[in-house]
Amino acid sequence: MASEPKAEKNTEVTMDEIVSLAKRRGFVFPSSEIYGGLGSTYDYGHYGVLLKNNVKNEWWRSMLTERDDIVALDSAILQHPKVWEASGHLSGFSDPMVDCRTCGQRFRADDLENATCPRKPSKNPGDGPECELTEAREFNLMFETNVGPMKDSSSVAYLRPETAQGIFINFKNVLNFARKAPPFGIAQIGKSFRNEITPGNFIFRTREFEQMEMEFFVPPDEVDEWYRKWIEIRRDWYLDLGIRPDFLMVRPHESDELSHYSSGTSDIEYLFPIGWSELEGVANRGNFDLTQHQEHSGEKLEYFDQQSGERYLPHVIEPAAGADRAALAFLVDAYDTDEIEGRERTVLKLHPRLAPVKVAVLPLFNKEGMPEQAQEINQALRAAGIQTEYDAGGSIGKRYRRQDEIGTPWGITVDFDTRDDGKVTLRDRDSLTQDRVPIEGLPALIAGKLTEPWKSPKLG
Ligand code: ATP
Repeated sequence: MASEPKAEKNTEVTMDEIVSLAKRRGFVFPSSEIYGGLGSTYDYGHYGVLLKNNVKNEWWRSMLTERDDIVALDSAILQHPKVWEASGHLSGFSDPMVDCRTCGQRFRADDLENATCPRKPSKNPGDGPECELTEAREFNLMFETNVGPMKDSSSVAYLRPETAQGIFINFKNVLNFARKAPPFGIAQIGKSFRNEITPGNFIFRTREFEQMEMEFFVPPDEVDEWYRKWIEIRRDWYLDLGIRPDFLMVRPHESDELSHYSSGTSDIEYLFPIGWSELEGVANRGNFDLTQHQEHSGEKLEYFDQQSGERYLPHVIEPAAGADRAALAFLVDAYDTDEIEGRERTVLKLHPRLAPVKVAVLPLFNKEGMPEQAQEINQALRAAGIQTEYDAGGSIGKRYRRQDEIGTPWGITVDFDTRDDGKVTLRDRDSLTQDRVPIEGLPALIAGKLTEPWKSPKLG
């Protein structure tokens, strides 16, 4: 099932260029910046929120709208500490770390080749003559907190390190109300927290991030079939949203790489500027989690099949994706530069459904009723639920370039002729075609375009 990697790194764009565009255009800012920042935490600005919302909406659409065997859940971030005992996170959710006695920094012992020693000249930790690394020790990645006014061992709780356990502990609730029988799924999007030893690479690895996870409960004898199906469904989701096939691969885990709960995991990887890296994991979790929660809680979590009279613990296939990582992959895949009339342009060739803004509405000049007419068009598009941006400031070329940088697929320009012929110019971000189209029917025209299949113009 795995396809061969075509290259080692994405060299079309650097992470620095993505970070700089993200900041310049208000997608993502370093968090707490006025206080000097807090390592590897980020705040999403207007366009970043719109982009990430579109990613999450597309995920919900694929889980809830396009099929009827999955239900939604939104569980609490703070859960009973026993959840993490049962899931194995308290004892086993750790990475090996080493400290350097010379520089005082801490690194992941299993990733030293990608870490940088802070002393000059920069080398990998352990490679400099003065480096003095300790033995590796396990470091639990869960953030600890206290619930209630008492700060003692009885009030310790954890910020969830994954959304999945919230699903398992609600399995019985969902069975009781959802009128579903295996095979069926429970999907959830929400924040997770991991005290990563070495976060980095912008929003690829942070300590606070959003996950999109779905647990698909199946009769035990169907688990292999569903494992294969979900790998394909999830790979196609990225491709349908425009990720180029050569930049995506499915990589089955080696047996020594598997998590304690998994009898099979495949990562869907994207060719980032840092190389092939995980976007999403699809895991066969067997009945590990339900067994553990049944044992630790004393609650029966079996499914009773009334037809066969059989009682069993369903097995689980889990596609677990990151909303921030997916947003980063879509940004990287969309980033392009080209030349228009001798001037370089930076453009995000995003799938129109992912683009933060769908249409920019632009009066050519601030006179002769053009702004008023453009505002009317803007309102009509917004009333149809289309995210627009009205922009009347600066030359038309500058305004187009600004929209290109945030990935707006279409520009509508109101000009001198509009009042007479009832038409506007519709500019396409990718082909740069400019068509005269009637104002009437614009919302339907754009809504129709948003449902069309799309492939990246970078494929040529
Ligand atoms: P990694 O090997 O990169 O640490 P993982 O295998 O531990 O990831 P999972 O536990 O399978 O990740 O989580 C599912 C998804 O959640 C990942 O594929 C990724 O998209 C996202 N994710 C996990 N950790 C982080 C993080 N620290 N920052 C951003 N996204 C993350």
